[in-house]
Amino acid sequence: NPPPTLHQPELWSHDFNDFISRCLIKDFELRPNVLDLLQHVFIKQTVGREKILQKQLIELTDLNQQIGLIEKTRIKDQTAVVFSENTLDLLTACFFLFQNIVTEQLQSRYSRDQIYTYVGDILIAVNPFRKMEIYTPQHTKMYIGAKRTANPPHIFAVADIAYQSVVSYNTDQCVVISGESGAGKTESAHLLVQQLTVLGKANNRTLQEKILLVNSLVEAFGNACTAINDNSSRFGKYLEMKFTCGGTVVGAKICEYLLEKSRVIHQAVGERNFHIFYYVYAGLADRKKLAHYKLSDSKTPKYLCNEHIKLGPDIVSNAFYKEQFDAVEQCFKVIGFTLEELGSVYSTLAAILNSGDIEFSAVASEHQTDKSNITNMSALENVASLLRIRSDELQEALTSHCVVARGETIVRPNTVEKAVEVRDAMGKALYGRLFSWIVNRINVLLRPDSQLGEAEKGLNIGILDIFGFENFKKNSFEQLCINIANEQIQFYFNQHIFAWEQDEYLNEEVDARMIEYEDNRPLLDLFLQKPMGMLSLLDEESRFPQATDQTLVEKFEDNLKTKSFWRPKRVDLGFGIHHYAGKVIYNAAGFLSKNRETLPADIILLLRSSENELIRKLVTHPLTKTGKEATLLLSGFCGVFSPDPTNCGDAPYHPRETTNMKTQTVASYFRYSLMDLLSKMVAGQPHFVRCIKPNNDRQANKFDREKVLVQLRYTGVLETAKIRRQGYSHRILFANFIKRYYLLAFNAHEEPPVTPETCAAIMEKARLENWAMGKTKVFLKYYHVEHLNLMVQLTT
Ligand code: ADP
Ligand code: MG
Repeated sequence: NPPPTLHQPELWSHDFNDFISRCLIKDFELRPNVLDLLQHVFIKQTVGREKILQKQLIELTDLNQQIGLIEKTRIKDQTAVVFSENTLDLLTACFFLFQNIVTEQLQSRYSRDQIYTYVGDILIAVNPFRKMEIYTPQHTKMYIGAKRTANPPHIFAVADIAYQSVVSYNTDQCVVISGESGAGKTESAHLLVQQLTVLGKANNRTLQEKILLVNSLVEAFGNACTAINDNSSRFGKYLEMKFTCGGTVVGAKICEYLLEKSRVIHQAVGERNFHIFYYVYAGLADRKKLAHYKLSDSKTPKYLCNEHIKLGPDIVSNAFYKEQFDAVEQCFKVIGFTLEELGSVYSTLAAILNSGDIEFSAVASEHQTDKSNITNMSALENVASLLRIRSDELQEALTSHCVVARGETIVRPNTVEKAVEVRDAMGKALYGRLFSWIVNRINVLLRPDSQLGEAEKGLNIGILDIFGFENFKKNSFEQLCINIANEQIQFYFNQHIFAWEQDEYLNEEVDARMIEYEDNRPLLDLFLQKPMGMLSLLDEESRFPQATDQTLVEKFEDNLKTKSFWRPKRVDLGFGIHHYAGKVIYNAAGFLSKNRETLPADIILLLRSSENELIRKLVTHPLTKTGKEATLLLSGFCGVFSPDPTNCGDAPYHPRETTNMKTQTVASYFRYSLMDLLSKMVAGQPHFVRCIKPNNDRQANKFDREKVLVQLRYTGVLETAKIRRQGYSHRILFANFIKRYYLLAFNAHEEPPVTPETCAAIMEKARLENWAMGKTKVFLKYYHVEHLNLMVQLTT
């Protein structure tokens, strides 16, 4: 047979593939160095850098040859083939590689029910869409304190690493779980919590039980059935488990981000409202308590049956919903909510449901044609009685508004459209605040015992379950917020892994110039800078009553002069952003109203007069953060990330201050939440879990390669692998290093001196490169450590 040539891609891609597979894939792991290369080629499509690529490829093969994974002669042949032809072919070859290796590996493992794979030290989890027998008590045990290489990759191993690090180094840890909707983030978070409660040997069984219930409770309120996922989280969640230095779990705390409140009043085709509404409706019916909460089993509340699905009696008779209602109530009780609080929660939910049924009609009078009237007073009465406010005042607040002109307060009627808007705003606000209140209450109930000293409750393992990067056919304000959050998290990776580590290199006088990375800071400035960043511009425009979404986009265009922002032709109200994970075209329609999301002052004042304590609390107190806490967080954040104070600003950091309630925009609250999240994350050492959805049909055993490929790009697996590879994840004191590895270069009876030279001798003997020597420590990459450990095992 003649040797394959580069002009027969079908042939050589296979060979090339085989070659790379043999050198770079070991057991269950994709070696990250080839990923560096692929990332250059595939993600960046770096045409014009072929020379560098060639050089890198040669280096890679050399490195792997040293590691001894491939035979020399075979490489020679193959590299000769590869490099003898023009480099465009090389690029194509690498493209094939990407498809064929990463996805093929994931696929073949998936077909053998191995849903977990490590890429470097990132865990990839491919959603199995069926129950796996890998979370049994035996598995729990198997992963406690085990070496990573001792067992197949597993989410429990991530829990273990995080836990062991808390215990051994007494530093905070943070597990970042990402992936698109339905990829398995929330399940992964559950599994982590499950394993961590075992590891944290809560000697107090009730605490363990409570922590396990927190997720279910919060998810009943924050999750909903969407077109993509029957249990889709409609908020971002950061759960912190609190440990003592000794590793005992002593408490927990949740933070929530960006709850999708619009779902309360409207759901897209085939989607539903938040779970809790159906649970409560069916559960109360079951207990014959509907009438008490002013609900009717014959007439389903509007907010529950959108135009597309008429659920009707299906809800009240649904056995699953009833069970869930009992389960939620049980969670509330175990965690420590009082019966009175529970009653208030149900009243609030029932009030929201009833408010959706308040209807208006236009009344034509002689002077004004745009007044509105409430047509069904019974719904109004119901809402007022559930909220314990006066119904005439509620009517007034819905159908009119006050304006102050020349020092005089004038009452103006609301049009039907305006009245509906106020009604819906009230429903959304009540729900959002109720959710925050529940979260806040949980945090109080699960706070570590005040008897414990500061040192005894100081260590955290945080688990972040947040929406991944989104790029749909139509992208709106929600996608923009989510993508900015992802952009900020990416920035955090970079900061944490480079900037922050660079300090240590500096102290240790390690030459860290070799570390280069794609800094997305300019993009963050584009979004967050004050006063000319996108969010600030949006806020500014939101303050003009005359502004429209069109003027907003024009404002963006006039002020954002960077090549990451552009206006696509032929897309009305469109603008494009080049995110780190790819280009996204947004549509600004509705941006202004989504950002304003105002709750009229009249409604706030009215709710403050409620005879129900919970309702009053919802509109009075800053719920999630006290002013002091916010200030602390802010200063912490500025110190680490943003030495330039103009960038992180000072105005909207007390988002729920009562005086500010009217002017608070979604964008400014969002900005605040982001800072808050980052200040928490920055305190911890990160671990990454990337969830992958293998198909769009939620089917087991179905692996759609194209789909997986796209996710690998968007979730930045390759980027992160590269970052992890370029930093030194392990720094070991000379003495410890020598004690552990001296056998690789010295005889057992020898006692080599504790010097950098001894360490260097060991590394050279192990034929490893790219490590660095500090003043007191050896700086290693994680794969060095693995290799060294393997060699020690072989030697002894
Ligand atoms: P996300 O939070 O990323 O949107 P979920 O965690 O809600 O996704 O997962 C969606 C669905 O996928 C779950 O309801 C479950 O049916 C399935 N799933 C996810 N991870 C696993 C797993 N490890 N084992 C079994 N099923 C899973
Ligand atoms: Mg989820």
